[in-house]
Amino acid sequence: MTEGSQPSTEEIQRRILKVMADKGVGARPCPVCGNPEWMIGAYVVPTVVTNPSTVSLGGPSYPCVSLLCRRCGNTHLLNLYLLGFTKEQFQELILPELPGTKEEGSGET
Ligand SMILES: [Zn+2]
Repeated sequence: MTEGSQPSTEEIQRRILKVMADKGVGARPCPVCGNPEWMIGAYVVPTVVTNPSTVSLGGPSYPCVSLLCRRCGNTHLLNLYLLGFTKEQFQELILPELPGTKEEGSGET
């Protein structure tokens, strides 16, 4: 069910999972605990530098989506550009809720 034009968190998670599935990403079980179930979490946007001896605040970044093991919480960061999303699409990916913060990863994939 959608209210207005803003997709739900679940819809956005499904959209990202579909893109990943088409590339075969997330098809393997967690290397830490062996659980095969992953979930899409919030975005993590680390700033990046080309000079390893510098620190950057507010500079260029890697827009990443987090991929979390539903059992142990093992967390991976997947670059949205390399998954195939464009900067123009980022507006459509804004999550109304912060996933992965409830006690149980409520709901199915
Ligand atoms: Zn795990």
